[in-house]
Amino acid sequence: MEILKLKNVVKIYKLAGGGTFEALKNINATFSTGELVSIVGESGSGKSTLMNLIGGLDSDFEGEISYRGKNLRDYTAQELADYHKKSIGFIFQNFNLIPHLNLIDNVALAMTLSNIDKETRVKRAKELLEKVGLKDHLYKKPGQISGGQKQRVAIARALINDPDVIIADEPTGALDAETTDNVLALIKEIAQSGKLVLMVTHSDRVAAHCTRVLRIDNGKLVSDEVTGKLEPLATKVKYNAIKVKNMSLFNAIRLAFLNMKAKLGRNTLVAFGTSIGIMAVVLMLSIGRGVTTYIKDTMNSYTDPNVTEVHRQSMMPDPAKQPAMDDHAEISRIQQNNMAALTGSGTDNDFTTKDITKLKAIKHVDRLERGYSTLSLGTNSVSYGDKNAMIMTLQTMSSNITKSSIVSGNAPKKDEVLLDKGTADLLAKNIVGKEVTFKLTIDGKQIEQKLKVSGTYEQQGSNFSTAIVRYSDLKDIFAQNGQTLKPNVVYLYTKNKNNTEKIKNEVKKLGFSGSMQETMTEMFTQMMDVISYVLAAIAAVSLVVSAIMILVVLNISVVERTKEIGVLKALGARRKDIRRIFVSEAFLIGLSSGMLGVVLTWVLQVLVNHFTIAQFEVPVVMMTTNYILTGIMISVVISMLAGLLPADRASKLDPVEALRKE
Ligand code: ADP
Ligand code: MG
Repeated sequence: MEILKLKNVVKIYKLAGGGTFEALKNINATFSTGELVSIVGESGSGKSTLMNLIGGLDSDFEGEISYRGKNLRDYTAQELADYHKKSIGFIFQNFNLIPHLNLIDNVALAMTLSNIDKETRVKRAKELLEKVGLKDHLYKKPGQISGGQKQRVAIARALINDPDVIIADEPTGALDAETTDNVLALIKEIAQSGKLVLMVTHSDRVAAHCTRVLRIDNGKLVSDEVTGKLEPLATKVKYNAIKVKNMSLFNAIRLAFLNMKAKLGRNTLVAFGTSIGIMAVVLMLSIGRGVTTYIKDTMNSYTDPNVTEVHRQSMMPDPAKQPAMDDHAEISRIQQNNMAALTGSGTDNDFTTKDITKLKAIKHVDRLERGYSTLSLGTNSVSYGDKNAMIMTLQTMSSNITKSSIVSGNAPKKDEVLLDKGTADLLAKNIVGKEVTFKLTIDGKQIEQKLKVSGTYEQQGSNFSTAIVRYSDLKDIFAQNGQTLKPNVVYLYTKNKNNTEKIKNEVKKLGFSGSMQETMTEMFTQMMDVISYVLAAIAAVSLVVSAIMILVVLNISVVERTKEIGVLKALGARRKDIRRIFVSEAFLIGLSSGMLGVVLTWVLQVLVNHFTIAQFEVPVVMMTTNYILTGIMISVVISMLAGLLPADRASKLDPVEALRKE
């Protein structure tokens, strides 16, 4: 059956210098299945050029090469890929097996590219390897077998998709006489099984086995003679027709993985290099979190989680409200305000009945306590016997003062006072239960009041000398001196502490402010966030280095694997498939570096925390799932970006040039 027709085929190479070279001149020939054609001619006469044109590796020619009636030049990229997979089988002089794949994978490659399932693939590869006498070497790599065996693997590979045409470019050129006969017998059998075999050869002895000899000289077909006839095989094996599809992503990743495994040492080093950058980023984020968590916990550990402290205005001066430098009146006014806010004096800090109603109405608030707190320097003091101590903070009792902070005695009852431990110790050893005298300045007026010490307490983070009385008592003291006590702090109590956060947010929405500690914690947290992000960003710079490293390594890989890429293309790999294989490799490097980076961070976390817990009783590094995922994602994205360029380069390699490469 006529299958291939060449009509006035001309191939002109464009030379780098600008000239042209006519490698094939007006070739005409027709080929049928069952023929074993040898193409002979001197070196440089154009034999390989012709084979590359027929094999669809080079579509840049004039004239017509029709396979089953359709000119190859008119094939789309997809049709050409399918033509390589399904219709043509290549056998090369230098075998061109892929070194990191075992014989089965090498033989099955065209099926892998055609997305044939693994079972079918392996079964067929085994059959073919058995047929070429390599049953005992299925799992060897090409480097572990002899030249003759390699060529037999290559023959098996060419046959895997049961193509109609086998193109063999000097298949015995690299073999000794004995193995040549061996390989020739196999090739003859292929033709007998009903395929067209086109075989380039130098040797007349080889040509003598063929049914037809084409002689090429200087690009011209000088003779074309039939020299014999082959007996078709009596029993032709009929294979199930396979349907070629495009390679799946999974198979691309698998091929990439097999290659990476072959270069494990190099890839491990690259992954290790990249992982250090990832580790730095994740570590910085985790330390930032560890430190802020520590600060927050310390700040919050001595307050009741069910209570929300509310102030009418922030105790922190607002940096955004800085007046002009020469507006002295405004500067003074703001200073007064700041002072008033800090000391808790001044009407701006007093809650109105309307404020109280608003706060009470907040959802989940079960109880509202009024409170008063004032900061003074030298105007308030307490004395016992001949001992005297300044009181810096005078405040009212609230739920916010937890039982655990009271070191001795009890919370104040009527006409009692709770003192901070420092001040209490200053006055007497066992002051609890004793009566002390308070000197207070209320609205410029000095008053004296006797109160019994109910207990002492200690508050972390505050060494202020503090006296705590009940709100109702303070109200009475004020009233006795002709003043009305207005609350300047309010405590909102909720039964379920999970609601506290919501209440705090609502309070802010209404325009009120939280406790001094909260404000400070917030400021600190914001600062730490900024610092840890900046540090992480600096660490990320090292990732640029990693990206360049991956780029270089993949580029080297492309150069090393030029021939392999040529083979893949000859077997029907599309540009997209090649690109995918290389991008998959970058993906795998990125994934393993990311995971390695996370593991390294984790190890550091264990070590660092072990040390800080021993020293300060707190862990400083706090990794979260989010940071882990971020680290891995950054690594994968960077690697894949770095892989795009080499992958593109690989996909664009010209198969003819790639195969020609030594
Ligand atoms: P053969 O396989 O018969 O030894 P080739 O087909 O490889 O010969 O080459 C035929 C002629 O075309 C040679 O003269 C060779 O130098 C020339 N040639 C092959 N490839 C190129 C190319 N890419 N650019 C220019 N000339 C080429
Ligand atoms: Mg050649």
